[in-house]
Amino acid sequence: MKYYSTNGKAAQATLEEAVVKGLASDKGLFMPEKIKALPKEFFDNIENLSFQEIAYKVADAFFGEDVDADSLKKIVYDTLSFDVPAVKVEDNIYSLELFHGPTLAFKDVGARFMSRLLGYFIKKEGAGEVNVLVATSGDTGSAVANGFLGVDGIKVFVLYPKGKVSPIQECQFTTLGKNITAVEVDGTFDDCQALVKNAFMDADLNAKFKLTSANSINVARFLPQAFYYFYAYAQMKKAEPGKDVVVCVPSGNFGNITAGLFGKRMGLPIKRFIASNNSNDIFYNYLLSGKYEPRPSVATLANAMDVGDPSNFARVMDLYGKNVEAVRKDISGARYSDEQIADAIRNCLKSTGYQLDPHGACGYQALKEGLKTGEVGVFLETAHPAKFKEKVEAITGSEIAIPERLQAFMRGTKQSVELSKQFADFKDFLMKNA
Ligand SMILES: *Cc1c(COP(=O)(O)O)cnc(C)c1O
Repeated sequence: MKYYSTNGKAAQATLEEAVVKGLASDKGLFMPEKIKALPKEFFDNIENLSFQEIAYKVADAFFGEDVDADSLKKIVYDTLSFDVPAVKVEDNIYSLELFHGPTLAFKDVGARFMSRLLGYFIKKEGAGEVNVLVATSGDTGSAVANGFLGVDGIKVFVLYPKGKVSPIQECQFTTLGKNITAVEVDGTFDDCQALVKNAFMDADLNAKFKLTSANSINVARFLPQAFYYFYAYAQMKKAEPGKDVVVCVPSGNFGNITAGLFGKRMGLPIKRFIASNNSNDIFYNYLLSGKYEPRPSVATLANAMDVGDPSNFARVMDLYGKNVEAVRKDISGARYSDEQIADAIRNCLKSTGYQLDPHGACGYQALKEGLKTGEVGVFLETAHPAKFKEKVEAITGSEIAIPERLQAFMRGTKQSVELSKQFADFKDFLMKNA
């Protein structure tokens, strides 16, 4: 399968090139040239299949032309070694718990899949080592570091701002060792991102090393997120037969929801989507006015959604031919302030006993307000509430137990390299250590 750029000025790429490069040479995002519909029999029988079986079918439609069947099956089964159950919160509202992976957030799925696909290409092509550079304000770094941990031929450098990441987040990527190096930058998240961008553009580094990114612009990270939309549908078909399924996605960079839109194009009978924003409501405003007006992000309780210029917006535009009317047919919007997020967490816990995290709270609340008769809603619970323990406990007044997996990270020993925010220092470091 070939991949084209949303900017339309770069040559088409193979899957391998798209995965290794991340971004097209004209700075556009890669899109698969075709989105294959899955047969009716698959959907008729989907409730009888396991998560891994469903995911393999979907993966085959995306990647089956480029990866042999046995390898692809192994990659899928190895990625999805944990369940993503749809848990009933109240009548007609379900939480799709995407937080049962290694770092307790949905990004584990894409990060693990990407690491294994990249590992496959490295082995098959006998190509040299690949260096993954990732800047993080918290969650992306832990998912990528854990996803790539121990994969042959790949080194990962996680850059994070010193003192600006919570201790729970920090321990998830600084205690791993092996092929993972944590780089503690004396600066802000933006400084970290600038260092990574400069490295990708640096001629000396590119002459010496293969460098790639692992954020949601990478097709190998964002497409696998489609898997759990199919599985959510399968679970709803069983639990709430005959109802129209609505999926609500707490959104920041819009990689997660875009994977769901791909699912719908493949024939998945999801009636409609809701994109839920925090106060960074750029997409919400786009749906209202038809105008896309990015602006600097503001800090909120749901900080993984603090995005002022969603990177996957270009993919949504590409899917819908830049037609806002067409977008509105499939997606409606919602927006919640920190106060409303806190209210949702408090009210949901009180009336149902279900503990939301601040991101899932945006999803829950939008379903609560937006479901129509005959519909059943599933919101994506994108992270475990214990990842935001202090904030959530301050809202509800009740304690959140820390899962054993998270406690294990917290017992580990922190290892990191301290660097200034000067590119010369980072370059020198990579020259010696990549
Ligand atoms: C990354 C993230 C999001 C936003 O996902 P996008 O694909 O960027 O829209 C939502 N919730 C959590 C917990 C996240 O880590």
